[in-house]
Amino acid sequence: MKCLVCQEETEKPQDSYCSAHGRAYVNLRQAFAKWATGYGTLTIPEFLEHIGKRSETGEKTREIIQFLSENPSRWT
Ligand SMILES: [Zn+2]
Repeated sequence: MKCLVCQEETEKPQDSYCSAHGRAYVNLRQAFAKWATGYGTLTIPEFLEHIGKRSETGEKTREIIQFLSENPSRWT
C-alpha cells in the first residue's frame, strides 16, 4: 500500500499510512479520546479544527488533519 496522505510506501502491506502518518493518526485518536471525555459533546471536525490551530501541532499531524477533514470516512 501507499500512504493515503503522502503516497509513500507503507511498512506493511495492510497499512493505510506510512510510519510517520500512522503515528500521527494514533496520537490524534488518543488525543480525541481524552478530549471527548473532557468535553463530552466535542465533534470530530471541531476537534480537528482545534488541534490544527495549535502552534505546537507538528507538520505530519497537520497533514493527517487535512486528510481526515477531506475524508471523514477514514476516521473509523
Ligand atoms: Zn505518509
